[in-house]
Amino acid sequence: MENAEPFHDTRGFFDKIGSRIGSQAPAVAHHINPTDALLLLQNYEESEQGWFWSTDAAGNLTYITEAIASVLGGGSRALLGKSMVSLFHKTAEGDAGSRTLPFILTKKMKFNSLEVKAAASQDECWLSISGRPHHDRSGNFLGFRGSGIDVTAQRRLSLDTARLAMFDSLTGLANRASMAKKLETTLTAYRQQKRTCAVMLVDLDRFKQINDTLGHPAGDALLKQVAERLLKVVGQGGEVCRLGGDEFQIMLPDCDDRGILGDLASKIIGSLSQPYSVEGNRCIIGASVGMAISPFDGLTSEDLVKSADLALYEAKGNGRGRFRFYSKDMQQSAEDRRLLEEDLRDAIAQGALELAYQPIVNAKSNIVEGFEALVRWNHPERGHISPGLFIPIAEDANLIWELGEWAIRQACADAAKWPGKARVAVNVSPIQFANDLFPGVIDAALGASGLASERLELEITEGVFMAETNETNAMFQALKGRNVRLALDDFGTGYSSLSYLQTAPFDKIKIDQSFVRGATEPGSRNGAIITAIVALAEALGMDTTAEGIETLDEFELIRNLQVSHVQGFVYSKAVSQQVLLENLEDGQWKIEPSGPAHHRNDRLSMYRKVRMIHENHVYSIVIRNLSVTGALIDGLYDVPVGTKFVIDFGEGQLALATVTRSNGSLQGIQFETRLVSDGNGGLCTSRRVSPYLIAEAGLDVPNLPAGYVPTTKIERDSLSLPAFSTVADWTPTKARPK
Ligand code: C2E
Ligand code: MG
Ligand code: MG
Repeated sequence: MENAEPFHDTRGFFDKIGSRIGSQAPAVAHHINPTDALLLLQNYEESEQGWFWSTDAAGNLTYITEAIASVLGGGSRALLGKSMVSLFHKTAEGDAGSRTLPFILTKKMKFNSLEVKAAASQDECWLSISGRPHHDRSGNFLGFRGSGIDVTAQRRLSLDTARLAMFDSLTGLANRASMAKKLETTLTAYRQQKRTCAVMLVDLDRFKQINDTLGHPAGDALLKQVAERLLKVVGQGGEVCRLGGDEFQIMLPDCDDRGILGDLASKIIGSLSQPYSVEGNRCIIGASVGMAISPFDGLTSEDLVKSADLALYEAKGNGRGRFRFYSKDMQQSAEDRRLLEEDLRDAIAQGALELAYQPIVNAKSNIVEGFEALVRWNHPERGHISPGLFIPIAEDANLIWELGEWAIRQACADAAKWPGKARVAVNVSPIQFANDLFPGVIDAALGASGLASERLELEITEGVFMAETNETNAMFQALKGRNVRLALDDFGTGYSSLSYLQTAPFDKIKIDQSFVRGATEPGSRNGAIITAIVALAEALGMDTTAEGIETLDEFELIRNLQVSHVQGFVYSKAVSQQVLLENLEDGQWKIEPSGPAHHRNDRLSMYRKVRMIHENHVYSIVIRNLSVTGALIDGLYDVPVGTKFVIDFGEGQLALATVTRSNGSLQGIQFETRLVSDGNGGLCTSRRVSPYLIAEAGLDVPNLPAGYVPTTKIERDSLSLPAFSTVADWTPTKARPK
């Protein structure tokens, strides 16, 4: 504010003059003509920059400048004789410390710049007043004389500045600085009290593209809506802040249950992935979430946020739209990802990528009608790497255009060699789709291979609709003009909307495997929804393909729902061009569906070494498979059914388990508490045992405050014998138990 400076000067000047007239002021009498001084003060009063007041010995007003009297209540006439104290609210601020006006006046003390709030004023009005007691020649107290200025505007300004420093001006959420402070204070207090606190980092997927295509004002409007949705989902349990750009942070005190946190993260991702209406445009973004929990994943706010950040990085690296919890091996995997990016660059340059072709089969006739080209990368050291992992890396590292162009050329060249009329479907990244040069790539690939355009199908995900702009429509028209087919891929994930189907010229809808997977579960409504999709597709003249069908029960369901085509392991995995040609030799490939009858409670097969704790002994065992309710373990002999022990999955993840089946070195166990999703297709314990408790149990824990000494330490009895023999103990002299 431009008048902030002169205001201060005036206050200094005025305080001086005011206090002079409040005292006997011999200096004024000697050097300045009293009439001049009076005129000067009168001019000053009229300028309304400041005012004067005086009281009698009882504290009642004997003088008050007219201008301020009208603000304080009804003009000087009405106020004279009234108590000075009654003009203001009781609380006051200023250099008189916490002393209030009544106290000061009773004590007959001199005071300077005491900030008081006018009691009778309708609008908020703050005044800064100064005063001195005055006495007669014999020293009898006569009353106060003083001055005042209006500081309302100044106060408002400094409050605004304080607010600006604390809050994000766009969304009104707390900003990075205030959140960092709050988190640090919370964690410091919680360390003492051994309480937990979770931090969630939320990053918007594809926000940058929206900002670039629709402009910054639209981006801002979108961020505001994101903030509103976040506040709504998080509610009272946590505090939301905007770190800047499209990054948000949520602090959740006393929260360490990963089941609850995972549910909240899913809700956030779901809510932020719903379509937005921004300045008349419809647009769609996604969100990724990384989470870390104190004290497990960090004790200071800096460490905790760093951990959450790594988890976020992993979530984005795993295909976006996901959540991840921090785990120690992420440090390594962030580095891995960087190396992978370099290797991918080389692989593309050296032509080391290959295409495999997965049959798309007519579910009634079992005849293969097309193939989806899926890129394969056999890394020289790391073996086969999933495109689910490296495609997002290629998108981030600006490699997708080159990769995508190669895939289309190669797929067209291969398909041109197939006997018969089978189609080839190629996946197209939204980044390719948004490029004006894309139709040229199609022309070149068709031209070079001689493939008929109607045999090429482009698979596009809903990501291309993130901003419904004229360019999107123009690209659809350009592609349709070339007579290639268009398929909507991964329908049923994220933000599916039937409205796309009516406006975009698709020839096929591919129903995502996650949608199909749930459909066979009792009580699922997915079946009913698939029926609706099929009916709509038929009405619009589109085919439907169900993706990822693995089991016979899924296959039956899908066929009964009249889905026209099936792609999944129930028919075949993706095969090489050579195997494809062998099978297509007669011009037609017919496959009988085969596979397991149904999914087993999502048991994950694995070979994972963990610790098992029974009484005072720690054993090393291997988990062969794992589900939310139980596991199959290997490594101990003669463990009776009913035995209870603890499985230590590491990082404080302890699960109490009971043996339900026992056969030689293999035991089926059941967990006391169900495991929960780790957001990445794996499982983790809902809660972790605090590192404080583990230290008290006498085990080493790295993540504790420096100098922390457990209060009670359980003495371990080293004399008792282990109850079970392990596979490693076994020697040929003992008969090996069957
Ligand atoms: P998508 O386009 O949805 O491809 C189908 C994915 O489902 C393939 O995974 C396929 O192997 C898998 N799948 C098929 N049947 C089954 C089944 O019965 N069970 C299970 N569990 N999975 C099944 P893949 O090859 O790992 O590809 C993953 C994703 O990577 C693709 O999903 C696609 O989005 C992307 N991708 C692959 N190749 C390319 C490419 O050339 N360009 C681009 N932009 N993306 C590609
Ligand atoms: Mg696909
Ligand atoms: Mg798909």
